[in-house]
Amino acid sequence: MKEGKEEIELIKEGKRLDGRGFDELRPIKIEVGVLKRADGSCYFELGDNKVIAAVYGPREMHPRHAQDAKMAVVKFRYNMAPFSVDDRKRPGPDRRSVEISKVSREALDPVIMREYYPKTAIDVYVEILQSDAGTRTAGINAASIALADAGIPMKDLVSSVAVGKIDGEIVLDLNAIEDNHGEADMPVAMVARTNTITLLQMDGRLEREEFERGLKLAMGACHQIYELQRAALIDRYSESVDVGEGEA
Ligand code: ADP
Repeated sequence: MKEGKEEIELIKEGKRLDGRGFDELRPIKIEVGVLKRADGSCYFELGDNKVIAAVYGPREMHPRHAQDAKMAVVKFRYNMAPFSVDDRKRPGPDRRSVEISKVSREALDPVIMREYYPKTAIDVYVEILQSDAGTRTAGINAASIALADAGIPMKDLVSSVAVGKIDGEIVLDLNAIEDNHGEADMPVAMVARTNTITLLQMDGRLEREEFERGLKLAMGACHQIYELQRAALIDRYSESVDVGEGEA
């Protein structure tokens, strides 16, 4: 258990409190292109997490001195709505959101072909409407789809999920009660097709063997998420093609 947390039983008769098995993801719902004014957008649900990602750009970078003459600059802003948590969250940036913005940008950076758009900015906004642990992973999944929806050239999508340890067991995709009362939480992001890890963080402690088992579990789940992301994008764009054909 993480320090200073009240101990509660998180596993009963081999099941988690929400009825999931140890290697089960929460239900995922994806909608692509939900915002009219954004160049690309995505609504992503992971259990009780509800997040929206919006992408703007590539567009002229301001201030100009921050431009990169060789490539686009990617900016990422993660923000939790004041109403997204049980107690109202104080609006505005804090240390946590600055950290999550930084690691999320770094998780997506390797797939974005920034060299195509020198001197520009690509702005990625992630808004957490409702949170239940794993918001950074939901945000990265949503942002990756929104970037693709914006038509930004990418080598691939990035998929993300957390694993952790509760009541001594390694489990996939912790919810808030598990995150609060569990022993460890380890968010992972990866390019599923090449098995390239682009984010790996850990809160709490895992033995080496547990870490390896957890990482394997997360990587397997990233493959599942990747398929859902792909399917959502294909669904969105095959729909538009159908409409076009119908009108012709
Ligand atoms: P993640 O959401 O990526 O798992 P954390 O591990 O930092 O990030 O947070 C876990 C959960 O704790 C969040 O999803 C949210 O439900 C809750 N939480 C985080 N920050 C706050 C806050 N300022 N007020 C209330 N709840 C919070």
